[in-house]
Amino acid sequence: MALQNSIDMMTRAQRVMPGGVNSPVRAFKSVGGTPRFIQRAKGPYIWDVDDNKYTDFVLTWGPAILGHANQQVLEAAHAAMLKGSSFGAPTEREIHLAEAMIPRVEGLDLMRLVNSGTEACMAAVRVARGVTGRDKIIKFEGCYHGHADTFLVGAGSGALTFGEPNSPGVTKGTAKDTLLAQFNDIDSVQALVDAHSDIAAIIIEPICGNTGCIPPLDGFLTKLRELCDEHGILLVLDEVMTGFRVGYGSAAGVYDVVADLYCFGKVVGGGFPLAAYGGKEEYMRHVAPDGPIYQAGTLSGNPVAVAAGLATIEQLTHQAYNQLDATGAQLEQGMASIIEEHNLPLTQHRVGSMFGLFFSPDPIRTHHDVKKCDFERFNLFFHGMLERGVYFAPSQYEAGFLSLTHTEDIIDDVLNKAEDCLLGIYHD
Ligand code: PLP
Repeated sequence: MALQNSIDMMTRAQRVMPGGVNSPVRAFKSVGGTPRFIQRAKGPYIWDVDDNKYTDFVLTWGPAILGHANQQVLEAAHAAMLKGSSFGAPTEREIHLAEAMIPRVEGLDLMRLVNSGTEACMAAVRVARGVTGRDKIIKFEGCYHGHADTFLVGAGSGALTFGEPNSPGVTKGTAKDTLLAQFNDIDSVQALVDAHSDIAAIIIEPICGNTGCIPPLDGFLTKLRELCDEHGILLVLDEVMTGFRVGYGSAAGVYDVVADLYCFGKVVGGGFPLAAYGGKEEYMRHVAPDGPIYQAGTLSGNPVAVAAGLATIEQLTHQAYNQLDATGAQLEQGMASIIEEHNLPLTQHRVGSMFGLFFSPDPIRTHHDVKKCDFERFNLFFHGMLERGVYFAPSQYEAGFLSLTHTEDIIDDVLNKAEDCLLGIYHD
């Protein structure tokens, strides 16, 4: 596979950007090798600067649910751009987008558009703190809510200790207000709630997509909801990855739980920088200018991004989700057959068009389970598939995504390649 152009660009990029990239995971640090510089994308495919073609399961980390360069999205964005790319004033299409999103998510009464998932999560937590008058939040190890200081916190030394910064630059003062629980372990949450009376919010990815797609165990989210209700804590569902991805609305709908506040991003922007937070009116009315909780943005509700987001949501009909689910089922069943036939020590999860393949034969329920995966073999698989023209995320901790342009034939082809690749890794 020719890679010289990507290699040359990485050398140049490293001179002008940390790691040569604008977001760390793009640098392939954990898997090694040369990150592909991408030149163009269409439907389920991306092409790198050496003209290698890949079937893409990263899909810009989730947003491209319609496939890359969707015609209606491009036309909507183009038409909007011709009328001016930013006004810093309200536009009618922002109302349309809110009116399209709100009926799909129970408990989403009011919403505010922002530019990134990080911003959405940061603002939602501020609202929770503002309305409760409490400082602490609980987050779950392995869940990612963007790079705001509040979230860059790791577990301290004991189960009930305060969090500690896991990035230089995050102060101990900030970290002490973030408590860490274990995904799918309600006892770990109960222990924190029992030990602290000043918890404003529990923030969670309803399906943990930042440890490679871990669905919640039966009843886990319902129990979280009950704990929140008992203790006056706000439940914040970070649906930046799962919102409008795993179903017609959000994961909350799939698991029949209603949040106090939601965070959205990725799919809602159709590949443009757009995200949102929102929730129950009694909380969202506290946001400025209706209330005193401050949050703002020069480019918030950007007309080009909003046009793209709206054109995306409008195409995401019930039928679209049925198709995505069928494609997901085909991939899942195909992989299950390969795993069974060759007795491979792999575990997989799928919810709709979001999936994870874990290099471990054991149940994967928490971040700790993922840590025990065979990372060496994951890396071999990642590079083996890349060589075969299939682009998965360069980390065992990342989920995979499907789009409406991933056809049955494409999935069959990828399954054949995966079987060939896995046999090489395990049986040669
Ligand atoms: N929340 C979740 C669940 C995410 O997966 C991400 C990004 O991957 C974020 C928040 C942060 O979003 P962004 O990268 O748009 O800031």
